[in-house]
Amino acid sequence: MNVKNIMVIGAGQMGSGIAQVCAQAGYSVILNDLKPEFVERGLGIIKKNLSRQVEKERMTAEEMEAVLGNVTVSTDLQDAKNVELVIEAAVENMEIKTKIFSQLDEIAPEHAILASNTSSLPITEIAAATRRPEKVIGMHFMNPVPVMKLVEIIRGLATADEVYQTIEDITKTLKKVPVEVNDFPGFVSNRILMPMINEAIYTLYEGVATKEAIDEVMKLGMNHPMGPLTLADFIGLDTCLYIMETLHEGFGDDKYRPCPLLRKYVKAGWLGKKAGRGFYVYE
Ligand code: NAD
Repeated sequence: MNVKNIMVIGAGQMGSGIAQVCAQAGYSVILNDLKPEFVERGLGIIKKNLSRQVEKERMTAEEMEAVLGNVTVSTDLQDAKNVELVIEAAVENMEIKTKIFSQLDEIAPEHAILASNTSSLPITEIAAATRRPEKVIGMHFMNPVPVMKLVEIIRGLATADEVYQTIEDITKTLKKVPVEVNDFPGFVSNRILMPMINEAIYTLYEGVATKEAIDEVMKLGMNHPMGPLTLADFIGLDTCLYIMETLHEGFGDDKYRPCPLLRKYVKAGWLGKKAGRGFYVYE
């Protein structure tokens, strides 16, 4: 299918990055969120990222304007009525996602593909909220989107081969590397990453070491580019908690129980970098 118009739902850290890379690849992008100030914040992130590229002379000011010209903003899902692809990047919550998908199913053209950037929620279940499960797929970008090469593409139970192929082709157009995985909780990335982060939080909770020491061990000892607690702050502690809950519920195995300290931080609103405070404090 020929995709030219893409709607990105959710203008947070992921949605703004996804909108940016789509606009840079020449797609016409509608960036949607619940309120105008949320969309403006997302657009602000895109402008800041692109300005940095101009400062580093990786892009001209004219090219930046052209990319920004490919992005329009929206607070109304009805704006999906003329797009060929929707990439949903709203919060990691099944109820919210299924509501969005069932509304999109009513609004978007029959041929449109509905993709979710979910980190862990079952694509098959999201697809079941629509009457087009064969056109629903997972398109899991990594954070920060403009920098990270991987897109994990998740086939739901009913995802059609041609839909998979279209999404793989678009991923390459975005200059990303697609990797095909099947639909199980956490897919591959977060099934492996998130229990490690949760275990790092347990080591802090149990007083095994300070947060700095835990991060240092993993950085220097395991050659990780950043420590697991820093990474958790970067991902968002609310997102980490949702993913652990999805793994716990999905596999019914207590080895995936979220650490109580993670719950406590989320309840306190200490959601990590995006909130200015998580395990660390940010300017
Ligand atoms: P975020 O909190 O930064 O942004 C979420 C945005 O969605 C917010 O702006 C919110 O207002 C908006 N939103 C909520 N409900 C909405 C609705 N009904 N309609 C439109 N917009 C709505 O979160 P994020 O980190 O960008 O994560 C978004 C998604 O991407 C989640 O599913 C998450 O699991 C996934 N993801 C996150 C990461 C990460 O590292 N943070 C990585 C890969 C995937």
